[in-house]
Amino acid sequence: MNLILMGLPGAGKGTQAEKINEQYNIPHISTGDMFRLAIKEGTDLGKEAKAFMDQGALVPDEVTVGIVKERLGKADCANGFLLDGFPRTIAQAEALEAILTELNQTIDHVIHVDVPEENLVERLTGRRVCPTCGTTYHVMYNPPAKEGICDKDGSALIQRDDDKPDTVKKRLAVNIEQTKPLLDFYQGKGYLTTVNGDQEIDDVFRDIQATLEA
Ligand code: ADP
Ligand code: AMP
Ligand code: ZN
Repeated sequence: MNLILMGLPGAGKGTQAEKINEQYNIPHISTGDMFRLAIKEGTDLGKEAKAFMDQGALVPDEVTVGIVKERLGKADCANGFLLDGFPRTIAQAEALEAILTELNQTIDHVIHVDVPEENLVERLTGRRVCPTCGTTYHVMYNPPAKEGICDKDGSALIQRDDDKPDTVKKRLAVNIEQTKPLLDFYQGKGYLTTVNGDQEIDDVFRDIQATLEA
């Protein structure tokens, strides 16, 4: 099963991707996670991406397409993959078509997790992540059992730099502008399903599953 999860920053893509990955056992490919790992490891890719991410801007298409192409070519993607946060521009979507053609693959579903824009600032500024295992929490909507501590491994949770209020506004503006044409692109191809992301995490997942198993 080859899936794309779309949605504005904070819509819940990463949260749902974790659940899809547990249930269907397909690799979760998040370009944001790949960039953050590269920054942590101090690679050239990380250095290149960091300036854009700190500004809340998109990393240039050539760079982003390059890492996705390399990742999709790995053996573990042969039986399915879940793209989260890619594509984010029409140019990336077109590049993805070419990559998949080369790999003799197609897209099965594009799931758009739809959340009213006015909820997203709160979703993003309240997000906390585990630096060890990557699990995502929310201070109000999905808190860990013990405040500030990961349920799975006891690490102290952190806030992403780009989840601070100033960067959040820029990220939302950039993504709102890019998203509509992409939704139209996938609607036109007949791949798109929109799921209401403004409900409990498990209810969003139930709706996603209903689409995948229809
Ligand atoms: P994305 O990957 O789309 O940027 P995340 O999955 O990281 O979004 O979710 C953003 C924030 O919103 C996180 O703090 C997460 O715990 C919280 N969240 C995710 N889904 C829901 C939901 N259905 N209701 C309330 N909060 C949610
Ligand atoms: P995310 O974790 O998906 O919120 O992404 C964090 C940041 O990584 C974004 O604000 C961008 O700077 C960068 N990024 C992630 N995915 C892409 C993409 N498909 N195209 C360009 N930049 C991206
Ligand atoms: Zn953890």
